[in-house]
This record gives sequence, C-alpha cells and structure tokens, in this order.
Amino acid sequence: MTKESVLRIALVLPDLLGTYGDRGNALVLAKRSSWRGTPAEIVTVLSSSEAVPDSCDIYLVGGGEDVAQHAAVRFLRDGGLRRATQAGAPVLGICGGLQVLGTGFRTGDGSYHEGLGLIDVVTEPGASRAIGEVVTESSVDGIGVLTGFENHLGRSRIAEGVQPLGQVVHGIGNGYDAVEGAVSGHVVCTYLHGPVLARNPVLADTMLEWAVGRPLEPLPEIDEIEELRAERTNRIKFRSRHPNAQR
Ligand code: GLN
Repeated sequence: MTKESVLRIALVLPDLLGTYGDRGNALVLAKRSSWRGTPAEIVTVLSSSEAVPDSCDIYLVGGGEDVAQHAAVRFLRDGGLRRATQAGAPVLGICGGLQVLGTGFRTGDGSYHEGLGLIDVVTEPGASRAIGEVVTESSVDGIGVLTGFENHLGRSRIAEGVQPLGQVVHGIGNGYDAVEGAVSGHVVCTYLHGPVLARNPVLADTMLEWAVGRPLEPLPEIDEIEELRAERTNRIKFRSRHPNAQR
C-alpha cells in the first residue's frame, strides 16, 4: 500500500469494459477498506487517459463487447497494468476482462485476437450464449461458495497450472471441465458478472488481504450477508436438482 495509507483502487477502462455495472466492485472494495479504517481512492482510467498507473493497490477490469475488448488490449498492452500485475498486485477480470487478461480470444465473427497474456486462458466462441445464475464451490483457500450471473458467448479453457476459481454447481462457467474462472498468483478471473464483490464479500476481502499483505478482521455485518447468501444459494441448488418442483 502507498505510504499515505490510502488504498488506491484502479478502475480500468470502465468506458470500454463496464457493461455490467462493474464500477460497483470498486465501491465495494473502497467501502470495506474504509469500514476497517483505511480510506480508499478510486482511480478511474478511461480510454482517453494517458496511461494506467502502476502504483495502485488493486486493479479491476470489467466486461464488455468484443470490439471494446480489442480496444482495451491495444490500450493495456505495455502499460502499468502489466507492471503492477508482475509486481503481484491483485487484479480482478470479469467476463470480457477475463478474456482481455488471458492469452487470446476468438470473437463471434471468427477472428482471433491476442490478449494481454497475464493469465493462461484461451477463449473460443460457444454454440450459444451462456446466460443465467451461477453457483460455484471455490477451490481457493477460504472462499467457499460463490454466486453470480453470467452472460457470455466465450468458452474459456485454462492451461495446466492455472487454478479454476471454482467448480460449477449450477450454470455454465468456463464451458470446459465444469469449472468457472481462473486464478494465477493474484490475478482472479471470473464469468460472474458486474459487481460480483457485492454478492461475494468473501472474495472482496480476499483481494483486499492480498493488497494489504495481512489478514483483515471480519466485519460485523458479514454474518448477516452470509446467511442471506447461503439461503439464496440453497434455493438455486434445489431448483437445479429439481427443475419441476414448486418452491
Ligand atoms: N464478448 C464476450 C463474450 O460474449 C464478453 C461478454 C461480457 O463481458 N459479458 O464472451
């Protein structure tokens, strides 16, 4: 963290990759940090900005359309996001962001585009869009169940040595091997859209802990959120197993 003890959260290209209210993730991180006594600053990097600073503590790359993804790769290719990632800063990539951070992606028109290569994930278009609720069980230490909403054409194959973010309980996820998302070092990618950190505060806190380099004390309201989440998750799981049941 910066010496002034302000958490600096980079919201990367929300004008290109912000289709699903991805800015909400920056707000969640900022709030959870300030509730624990460390104020936060959201550094918004637009496509009209000079460059991405490499001095931020966390980087957020959201979802978007195919065309926006090419523009984002061009903008981000050699800049501060790469340097910060290599230095170990936590990075969250969502949907289009996952594909941009990855090795490469083929879009709906059949053309293949190199990604930033910050995580070894290759995306090909699927036969139809994956749309709907997702529930996964994360294999990442301490995270547990994650929930979200997906809406994507791409199907993403993760390379050996890249950990999935979770095993799919309900929904499509990456579309290969019943896994969802990808994790490599402090780079976390997921198809759980938009403000995934609002729905999954445990993921927000994991990324905050990586940013500050120490465990954080739990927040009092977390139990209540966790209860609501567990209840909702059980309902989705039930519907998944019993699609014709009334409940
Ligand atoms: N264009 C990508 C796809 O459909 C990403 C979409 C998104 O970010 N929702 O796979």
